Amino acid sequence: MAELPSEVRCVVIGGGIIGCSVAYHLARLGWRDVVLLERKRLTSGTTWHAAGLIGQLRGSSTLTKLAKYSAALLPELEAETGLSTGFRQNGSLSLALSDERLEELKRQATMGRVWGVEATMVSPAEARAKHPLIDLKGVTGALWIPANGQADPANIAQALAKAARQRGVRIFENTKVTGIRHAGGRVTGVDTSAGPIGAEYVVNCAGLWARQVGRMAGVNVPLLAAEHFYVVTDASPDIARNLPVLRVPDECAYVKEEAGKLLVGFFEPKGKPLPDHKISDDAEFLSLPDDWEHLSRELELAAERLPILKRVGLHTFFNGPESFTPDGRWILGEAPGLRNFFVAAGFNSIGIQTAGGAGMAIAEWMEAGEPTFDLTAYDIRRCQPFHGNATYLADRIGEALGLHYADQFPHRSPVSARGVRTTPLHERLAARGACFTEAAGWERAAWFLPEAARARGEKAEWRYGWGRQPWFAHVAEEHEAVRSGVGLFDLSTFGKIRVEGRDAEAVLQLICANDIAVAPGRIVYTQWLNRNGGVEADVTVSRLAGDAFLVVTPTASALRDLAWLKRHIPDDADCVATDVTVGEACLGVMGPRSRELLAPLVDVALDNAGFPFSSWREIEVGYALARAHRISFVGELGWEIYVTVDMARHVFDSLIARGADVGLRLCGTQALNSCRLEKAYRDCGHDMASTDHVLEAGLGFAVKLDKARSRFGDFIGRDAVLRRRDASLSRRLVQFLLADPRPLLYGNEAILRDGRVVGYLTSGAHGHYLGAAVGLGYVACSPGESADQLLASTYAIEVAGEQVAARASLEPLYDPKGARLRG
Ligand SMILES: Cc1cc2nc3c(=O)[nH]c(=O)nc-3n(C[C@H](O)[C@H](O)[C@H](O)COP(=O)(O)OP(=O)(O)OC[C@H]3O[C@@H](n4cnc5c(N)ncnc54)[C@H](O)[C@@H]3O)c2cc1C
Repeated sequence: MAELPSEVRCVVIGGGIIGCSVAYHLARLGWRDVVLLERKRLTSGTTWHAAGLIGQLRGSSTLTKLAKYSAALLPELEAETGLSTGFRQNGSLSLALSDERLEELKRQATMGRVWGVEATMVSPAEARAKHPLIDLKGVTGALWIPANGQADPANIAQALAKAARQRGVRIFENTKVTGIRHAGGRVTGVDTSAGPIGAEYVVNCAGLWARQVGRMAGVNVPLLAAEHFYVVTDASPDIARNLPVLRVPDECAYVKEEAGKLLVGFFEPKGKPLPDHKISDDAEFLSLPDDWEHLSRELELAAERLPILKRVGLHTFFNGPESFTPDGRWILGEAPGLRNFFVAAGFNSIGIQTAGGAGMAIAEWMEAGEPTFDLTAYDIRRCQPFHGNATYLADRIGEALGLHYADQFPHRSPVSARGVRTTPLHERLAARGACFTEAAGWERAAWFLPEAARARGEKAEWRYGWGRQPWFAHVAEEHEAVRSGVGLFDLSTFGKIRVEGRDAEAVLQLICANDIAVAPGRIVYTQWLNRNGGVEADVTVSRLAGDAFLVVTPTASALRDLAWLKRHIPDDADCVATDVTVGEACLGVMGPRSRELLAPLVDVALDNAGFPFSSWREIEVGYALARAHRISFVGELGWEIYVTVDMARHVFDSLIARGADVGLRLCGTQALNSCRLEKAYRDCGHDMASTDHVLEAGLGFAVKLDKARSRFGDFIGRDAVLRRRDASLSRRLVQFLLADPRPLLYGNEAILRDGRVVGYLTSGAHGHYLGAAVGLGYVACSPGESADQLLASTYAIEVAGEQVAARASLEPLYDPKGARLRG
């Protein structure tokens, strides 16, 4: 065996399809000195036994781009290496067995048009013509994607490995990484069973072992293996060759034809997690014991759907491990606390069809120093520390597998391993009818079941669907309270970061695009930009004192923003950033009657002169001390009251007691979202991300190009803003209001401009005040096009195949001048 090098530029850990793809793409970008280390043999983890379905239309624009790239790479790889990947584009059919599933498929077909994947709805009879083995009982329609198909997973990985070798990557099998070396917050190499290797970069592509490898470096990679099953029939002349891949999500099954046999795989509703200790350290080409009983229902359904299964014999029951993550999304990117240590793991059973794209995205990120795709939803910085808890993972992962084929309803939250992370008001909210949703591991009240309904014995429970659900009316009432009276939101889950030190102002001036050199008592709304002018964070910065600031950020962004901040504090700066999220609760008192509610409870003047918009004051409220911030995410007069956790319940009780006189209503995240969309407030991670330029996001008003230069330099992204200001915008974020009050928007609906698809909604909700669904989305524009020209077009939004006329606006449709905020 060749000797390990002592020093390289990059070590890739893991010789599955993902590690091979990362190594190949690094080499393709011209990286020299890349080694790949595999503890056993290439593909011997999960890759060798995958079913090999290749799908290209996925639930997000990013995943679809990466999946399309992956499929397009396969013929290229074959040409480059002479190895066959077994890629066959026989198309795929997804069957709907309910109206709800049919709507989901229609919505997917629409997104196919937006994202460039041909996808059409076909009737049950047309579906059967394409796949004659199907029984049509209960089938309401089907989605047909002609360019989908299947390939041989191990061959793809081998082709990637060969192509990587041809480009100079050295691959060492039977070489186990046993430790990660690091110093000063930066990775420096690995220890292996064959000795140490110094490295500037390390990429953890260790599949279901990635959590353990992460631990070697103190990096949280929350994933766990689950057993994943398929059966293979005997060959039969009745099984036509080149059948399309079939998915019957309502029966948890997928089917592919291979050499005249059928492979039928399952995503049963409750999967079987596989704790680490059940996988031996020596495991390779692992095949787990069969479990007919576990799959008995799914097997029966499959035999009804494909009657041929009753006639042909089954020659294989296969059970192999695949890793899943608590939210069903990949874990990608640079570890927040360890520079140059990257992770690409947790592929949740789509690692074969997305390997090319994932490897390319990671390689480009390493090369560019920042993501070249919007990877927010898959970024490792979203993972909460407790997500790595083994008991939590064991309880959640079975459901994560099942959700793969469950209805992809909007607002759907998992039901397992809940209630871990709660605000101090949780029990009080629950007692008042809160129905909770999960965000970044937090329980958040989404809406409240009114007292009268509780008295009738109704329960505050989710009902999911694409249409109006029973809770729609409760959200409408909460929304109305915020617009015309006063609502109380528990906003305690907002991320809070204290930034302190002699250089705190200079550091924040470097990081913020707005000017935060304001007097103590002021609050500044700002974005944090990357070098390309893309939006990394969307926060408020409150100046607490000369040398202390409080950054408040959305619930899901706290860890990501803390990592960005820490990374950009210059070495010689006297400045520390501390996450204080759990130290303070936050109660949002929002609506035109909020002043009336608060006035008798607090010791400060609340009028515009005494307490202007965008300022904060220390207040006494009840017997407690707190800080009130005059700011609002719903577009109304309002205050966010920050109070230490120990006194949060007291403040809540005081507000509720006084609230009876002014019609105070408890409100949840659903009303928060519908109110913010009416006001066209952007949600970072949806409406803007690291690949969206701040000017295209319409936030130029919060960028101060002429603010004083910090001692650490101009603010990050300034040059990119200047460049884009001088050139014209190639797209703009536009707000839309449907002309018809009936359809609902959730995000991921097509935008049509003068009949042509030009983009998609990044978020959407019903605008209860505006009277119809409202959404935000980017519209491509031509060079030099003015706002008036853009708005002169005719717009429609396509919802599940139906085009609905829409009004477009570049200024908020609700309270465009912000008079209500300042009222
Ligand atoms: C039954 C089944 C069917 C599937 N069907 C499909 C499908 O149809 N389409 C699809 O897209 N996906 C499918 N998948 C999922 C797909 O197989 C995985 O997502 C993919 O193989 C993950 O690849 P990976 O490289 O991350 O992991 P792996 O293939 O497990 O590779 C990780 C490698 O890291 C090595 N390693 C671990 N620790 C160390 C260490 N300390 N030092 C060195 N090396 C180490 C391991 O030995 C292993 O070889 C299926 C999975 C299963 C189980």
